[in-house]
Amino acid sequence: MVGRNVTGVNEYGHLTIGGVDTVALAAKYGTPLYVMDEDAIRANCRALKTSLETHYAGHGMVLYASKAFCCKRIYQIIAQEGLGADVVSGGELYTAMQAGFPAERIYFHGNNKTADELSMALEAGVGRIVVDNIAELELLSALAKAAGKTANILFRIKPGIDAHTHNFVRTGQIDSKFGFALETGEAMEAVARALSLPGISFVGIHCHIGSQIFDIDPFCHAAEVMLDFAQQVRETNSCTIQELNLGGGFGIRYVEEDDPKALESYMEAVSKVVSARCEKHRLPVPFICIEPGRSIVGDTGITLYTVGSVKTIPGCRTYVSIDGGMTDNPRYALYQSSYEAIIANKAAQQKDFTATIAGRCCESGDLIQEHTPIQTPAVGDILAVLSTGAYNYSMASNYNRVPRPPVIMVHGGTDSIAVRRETYADLVRNDL
Ligand SMILES: *Cc1c(COP(=O)(O)O)cnc(C)c1O
Repeated sequence: MVGRNVTGVNEYGHLTIGGVDTVALAAKYGTPLYVMDEDAIRANCRALKTSLETHYAGHGMVLYASKAFCCKRIYQIIAQEGLGADVVSGGELYTAMQAGFPAERIYFHGNNKTADELSMALEAGVGRIVVDNIAELELLSALAKAAGKTANILFRIKPGIDAHTHNFVRTGQIDSKFGFALETGEAMEAVARALSLPGISFVGIHCHIGSQIFDIDPFCHAAEVMLDFAQQVRETNSCTIQELNLGGGFGIRYVEEDDPKALESYMEAVSKVVSARCEKHRLPVPFICIEPGRSIVGDTGITLYTVGSVKTIPGCRTYVSIDGGMTDNPRYALYQSSYEAIIANKAAQQKDFTATIAGRCCESGDLIQEHTPIQTPAVGDILAVLSTGAYNYSMASNYNRVPRPPVIMVHGGTDSIAVRRETYADLVRNDL
């Protein structure tokens, strides 16, 4: 949604990222290789932060949803850019703390946080714990009381908007594993319970309606539903909601046909709805948070592979096999996600070939893309897959005991390692 063209083509006809030659990067670090444009990540952060502050008069915060791409370096970048972070596990929280991320700007999410994770969050002093269910609320209260602390909480609410379809429909709202339903009254009961429990300070409400959403309407509608609930909370419990977290889910461009809306149109439309609804209900405008993940990192990263074989099945298709696959990018196998591929050392040439890009795992479904246009491939070519900055490294696995690739960051025309390549020794580290 924020977007910026991170790739280009240089005088050698090679693909570049952040101005750096990708063929040279592949030669320097080996493949497969994740490469991210740090300057573009920072530009995305600034655009989001500036826009949010403009539309909510400085009364709000952008939280980076760190499950999109999680390592120490990204937390350092996010902290420097003045954003908060959303974490969804003890592992993400640990990584953030190891990176020196300010705990008060961390929001802890998840539909089944363990007692250990909640204790860890209390100990670290995270800014908010986003409570998903009553059992968690009771557990958190007991843990906070025992530790002599107060947990500042938001409730995760299901606003009843199915934004996975383009034409959003208001059905199936109760059928989600995340959060409290409105129409059954469980959300309101939870508020009353929170106000009566020790160790709990009820600060506000949160929703997250889905991911890779292009329409603005579902976000506007969610804001309305949430503020209507805020008004009911005030009537029922005479308690004013101080904070409204509207989640993430902004779509980005993976392929030409994708048409993400401009950041400004989202921010303008939603902030108008927020102020109109607050005025209608005579509520003070709460502190507004948004939680973009994909739209901060997604289009800032690419993955580089080496072509190992080109296998044409007459009358059928051509498989172009690469030295990575579902272990570093499971998204096609999981959701048939679209990606654009380019042969990095032939980037100035026409895409005159149709290929199925196959990974190296012992799975027929280990594909990165089917029937996709690329330049005529040859063994030894460097193949780049674009917009892999989100949900690739963070979803990578060691299936078939494939070590995870390193992550290289380019900044100001130079490159550095953010995450080292896994070694075979790393793979057996915990084996007894
Ligand atoms: C995944 C997630 C996000 C971020 O979603 P994107 O589609 O990457 O923007 C934000 N908030 C919560 C609670 C999430 O689970």
